[in-house]
Amino acid sequence: MTTTIKTGGRDIRLSGVSKNWDSTQALSDVNIDIPAGSFTALLGPSGCGKSTLLRIISGLETASAGQVMIGGTDVTTAPADKRDLSMVFQSYALFPHLDVAENIIFGLRTRRVPRKERQKRLNRVAALLGLEDYLDRKPAQLSGGQQQRVALGRAVIAERSVCLMDEPLSNLDAKLRQTMRTELRVLQRELGFTMVYVTHDQVEAITMADQVVLMNAGRVEQIAAPQDLYERPATTFTARFIGTPPMNLLPAEELREAGVALERATGSRLTAGLRPEALHIAAQSPLSMTVTGIEYLGADALVHGVLGAAPLILRVPGQSLPNPGQPIPLAFAPRDLHLFDAATGHRVDLPDVASTLSRAGVPAGSTGATAPSLQTEDL
Ligand code: ADP
Ligand code: MG
Repeated sequence: MTTTIKTGGRDIRLSGVSKNWDSTQALSDVNIDIPAGSFTALLGPSGCGKSTLLRIISGLETASAGQVMIGGTDVTTAPADKRDLSMVFQSYALFPHLDVAENIIFGLRTRRVPRKERQKRLNRVAALLGLEDYLDRKPAQLSGGQQQRVALGRAVIAERSVCLMDEPLSNLDAKLRQTMRTELRVLQRELGFTMVYVTHDQVEAITMADQVVLMNAGRVEQIAAPQDLYERPATTFTARFIGTPPMNLLPAEELREAGVALERATGSRLTAGLRPEALHIAAQSPLSMTVTGIEYLGADALVHGVLGAAPLILRVPGQSLPNPGQPIPLAFAPRDLHLFDAATGHRVDLPDVASTLSRAGVPAGSTGATAPSLQTEDL
């Protein structure tokens, strides 16, 4: 029996996983590689299949098709208790009549881990989770966050190499969620287990995860590191799902004044994407937006408006706000412009976008300025 909490998780590989119930196709051809010791978030809107996928990894549910490998072993049909993993759910049922210590070590007791070993692990877990002073309290005497910590403690004390969590923080208030996000991440790094973490909250996913698996209607939409997901969304779905407020999407023709006349080059219609934080108010610009409303947030503000026929939101510092009805010249850095095929929603990478834009004289805002020389292309 080891005395320290073991480090090093096992990798998980899902190949061609599908799941259907009668007429409902909950998952279709899901392929994901989860590296050992990584923190992977399964992210997506409600009903997209996150919990189903997690349950298939855990063994609480079986796939209709495909393969589940954990640590190089095919566990597709193995029962949950043969997979050596722990789970934390949104509703973490603690035993109300047991104190914190007993709740945490409950699983070790049923597994007949010797008393001395139990105590050792309990001390370590309690210290990690800041529960040392609460060990003889009953769950009813704890705050929501403390209860959640006990539930986490119960999962990590098992020293499994894989931990699965399904929206474990969604019952907590916003402030506590933020604290717990950090704590969970530290805990996972320190113990080194492989974490698969389900959430519908994009902030949670991108702040915590090494790798985000964005799901949409039972399929994998994109798998990427948080920064790549934000900076290079592969589809308009990803572009809108990651970031708040979501990326502005508008027909690329609305930017023709800015020199975005690239339809000819690609042969298909394009959708332009610009994040609210990528747009700036310029001194002058060929692009002009009419302000329709202001959402004041303190540190900054969201300016709502229209560019041609397209609604647009930009994020500006909170001090100097334009008035509704006012036209404002807009600037953005060429590298902040995303383009998507209007028909498929897939990202389009055109190597000459930046040069086209700089030739059109769009001021580049605060970042990535290039010298403009006016020469606008026609649509
Ligand atoms: P998420 O966790 O992303 O909100 P779920 O995995 O819970 O989504 O559900 C995905 C889809 O599968 C939904 O349409 C849901 O109604 C359906 N579903 C989930 N569990 C069952 C079940 N046991 N029987 C039938 N349909 C189910
Ligand atoms: Mg769910």
